[in-house]
Amino acid sequence: MASQGVNQWVYSFGAGKTEGRADMKNLLGGKGANLAEMANLGLPVPPGFTITTELCTYFYANGRAYPGELKDQVAAALAAVEQAMGATFGDAVNPLLVSVRSGARASMPGMMDTVLNLGLNDVTVQGLVKRSGDARFAFDSYRRFIQMYGNVVLDVDHHHFEDILDSHKRDRNKAFDTDLTADDWEAVIADYKAMVERELGRPFPQDPQEQLWGAIGAVFGSWMNARAITYRKLHDIPADWGTAVNVQSMVFGNMGQDCATGVAFTRNPSTGENAFYGEYLVNAQGEDVVAGIRTPQHLTIAGKQANHSDLPAMEEVMPEVFRQLNDVRLRLEKHYRDMQDIEFTVQQNKLFMLQTRNGKRTAPAALKIAVDMASEGLIDRKEAVKRIDPASLDQLLHPTLDPKAERKVIAKGLPASPGAASGKVVFTADEAESQAGLGDAVILCRVETSPEDIHGMHAAKGILTTRGGMTSHAAVVARGMGRACVSGAGELRVDYKTRTITVRDIVVKEGDILTIDGSTGEVMLGAVPTIQPELSGDFATLMGWADEIRRMKVRTNAETPLDARTARKFGAEGIGLSRTEHMFFDPQRILAVREMILADSEKGRRAALAKLEPYQKQDFIELFEIMAGLPVTIRLLDPPLHEFLPTTEADMAEVAKAAGTDLLRVQQRSVQLHETNPMLGLRGCRLGIAFPEIYEMQARAIFGAVAEVAKSGQAVLPEIMIPLISTKKELDILKAMVDRVAKETMAATGQTFEYMVGTMIELPRAALLAGEIAETAEFFSFGTNDLTQTTYGISRDDAGSFLPDYERAGIMEHDPFATLDPEGVGELVRLAAERGRKTRAKIKLGICGEHGGDPASIAFCESVGLDYVSCSPYRVPIARLAAAQAALNADTVKRD
Ligand code: ADP
Ligand code: MG
Ligand code: MG
Repeated sequence: MASQGVNQWVYSFGAGKTEGRADMKNLLGGKGANLAEMANLGLPVPPGFTITTELCTYFYANGRAYPGELKDQVAAALAAVEQAMGATFGDAVNPLLVSVRSGARASMPGMMDTVLNLGLNDVTVQGLVKRSGDARFAFDSYRRFIQMYGNVVLDVDHHHFEDILDSHKRDRNKAFDTDLTADDWEAVIADYKAMVERELGRPFPQDPQEQLWGAIGAVFGSWMNARAITYRKLHDIPADWGTAVNVQSMVFGNMGQDCATGVAFTRNPSTGENAFYGEYLVNAQGEDVVAGIRTPQHLTIAGKQANHSDLPAMEEVMPEVFRQLNDVRLRLEKHYRDMQDIEFTVQQNKLFMLQTRNGKRTAPAALKIAVDMASEGLIDRKEAVKRIDPASLDQLLHPTLDPKAERKVIAKGLPASPGAASGKVVFTADEAESQAGLGDAVILCRVETSPEDIHGMHAAKGILTTRGGMTSHAAVVARGMGRACVSGAGELRVDYKTRTITVRDIVVKEGDILTIDGSTGEVMLGAVPTIQPELSGDFATLMGWADEIRRMKVRTNAETPLDARTARKFGAEGIGLSRTEHMFFDPQRILAVREMILADSEKGRRAALAKLEPYQKQDFIELFEIMAGLPVTIRLLDPPLHEFLPTTEADMAEVAKAAGTDLLRVQQRSVQLHETNPMLGLRGCRLGIAFPEIYEMQARAIFGAVAEVAKSGQAVLPEIMIPLISTKKELDILKAMVDRVAKETMAATGQTFEYMVGTMIELPRAALLAGEIAETAEFFSFGTNDLTQTTYGISRDDAGSFLPDYERAGIMEHDPFATLDPEGVGELVRLAAERGRKTRAKIKLGICGEHGGDPASIAFCESVGLDYVSCSPYRVPIARLAAAQAALNADTVKRD
């Protein structure tokens, strides 16, 4: 322990007292905190110590230097490990060997790779030979160390090592690493050392202390490497979190046939099934399992059968160790109450745990695990609802391959990450990124992937590899990103030079279309048709739980019957925004719309509007019927009229003919309607003021539809929304008109019906004067797209040219059109809600901007107490879940 006043930079685990805990991730990193937690649980963890993330921060704040007291703290912790292991670091007879492992708070693929067997040199390796009685093992360990340390710490290109190893294998006519003898490895080691000296101009470090500090420095240094920086950017991880370093005594999975190393998930990470799922290799070390050098074997007999493997399962080969491992699995799940991703090593039939963390999983697996764990009593329903990332549901809301469609299957690999994707074949991550940037769907095809490929995997729709198992880099990363992935499709030959994939007599070239199905592992030629997703099973169950918890309603933005039906299927509780202008673009109607706009008299406009009215009425009848008694908010015409104008002379001539006028007049009127800044021009309620007959026609169509549907006994709840209000007067005038039309319709049809008139709050002035506007408005719907544009004074359509610079410069953390700006735009929303409620206590409040489908923005809406959010149909389930989580968080905040 550190003495008073001195910072404690080093925390021991497993050697005597364990100082860390699982909840110390910020300080010890995820790996360190969980190693400590496993040691606390009494699980077999090789003793070691963790240097804190605070030291990483210190390191960068002080020109890459360490605090003076670090040396002593490390020495003390190392001494404790030596004592626990009965071995001494650097000792010629009984050397302690360690691994040096990076570990940030969140798992970060960009960080330094682990160095194993550190402490070996020309002298200590002889000690290891004697103590183990296995020269082959000792030299194999030493060559691995030189290779890892050389590559990871000394930055010697890995090809140099591979070339040497390959030439030795070739000379001796040996196919596998495992075929090499002790003498062979000794020869390899001599060549490795000579090569390193040639490359670096100095010999490979023999002093174990120098090795240790070199590795520690390399871990901290890797926090700022390009890979790590990219990854942090992609995942919103702040640079000041820092990484920890774990130094841990070695256990050996490469000491013979009673040794092994492996990785496992406590439940199936693809399907969520409650079955132990993992892979292992006998007589192997470290990441041999995921490196794709040897084909890994399954842990369980069931796993082996499911994957049609003929290699023996661990359950068969090492039944006793397997039983222990399965016990550990159950204990870890009970303790962490979540699916764990574990790494272990078996040394001479003794199990050691090297890592545990919450496992990454696909969206279907996440749902199944959450629902199952709630049923098993491991967690409650609220916790189950909290566990699902709303954004991940996107994966389930996308089409899957039509089972009836014809598939030209050319190969089958492993179903590594579900979902189907079609796209152009590309072979490099850079190519994937640039093609995707041009708007093309791409499938990234690689022999295997590595952390340098992350950006391309992100850009691709799907990832296909020819090597590697379910726990390969490609598989793990794809699942985390929600990309479809087929891994280990070994029949395919990917040739980077000719940029082709060959299988039998089929050659697929770069740019050809392939389809992969990450749920079956199939690889198909061409694009395959897809079908729409269903909300059923665990998904439906969890959504039901979310619905019990959430306070806000979830509506949809929809104007077509197709969208409205889709949204209902996904659980929408009404329409929050039906944009009537979209109904105008129909080819049947656009002519009449243009006639209306180009008419130069009220009479001409009314004549054209009369043609449109029956269509509009029919639109609304359909929406009301689909929404069966749920509220339907209809926004009266909003966009600048010029959006509907004909642009070609032929179209203009057609309009002239229909309106009984000549081309020249149509052209003149087009010029008249031109605006310099249409977004702030004649649009929204200004249209209703300038051309009242337009809104009047729409109101008549709406109420006509209401009366018609009401006749059949069906409840109808129309909410008529006037857009772009900035003064109460505008609303007064237009509401009076709507009320008059409603009265007239009631008189004409003999029907009475309910309706509301309200406004969109989408201009700062309307937000500020919300108290006054609420005297007339019966509801507010926050149109946060325009409110963001007008608050920032940024046109969304033009923001693309500078927003990336703003994000890079750190001026804006997020695109404010994707996630509601809580401080500025949000403040206006808050203020309008307060002022509106002051005037009209029960005023109905909702949001209909695209933010209504964004989980962070939904949390904001909960904090303002909005009644509902409205979003596009495919985001409805996401919004339902996000609203439930927002309610749960609001609950915790209140209780705090
Ligand atoms: P990553 O963060 O990439 O998973 P790890 O630090 O977990 O890297 O190390 C990778 C692998 O190295 C582990 O899964 C384990 O097989 C091996 N390893 C690490 N430390 C030890 C150790 N002390 N003894 C034996 N093997 C180790
Ligand atoms: Mg790794
Ligand atoms: Mg690991």
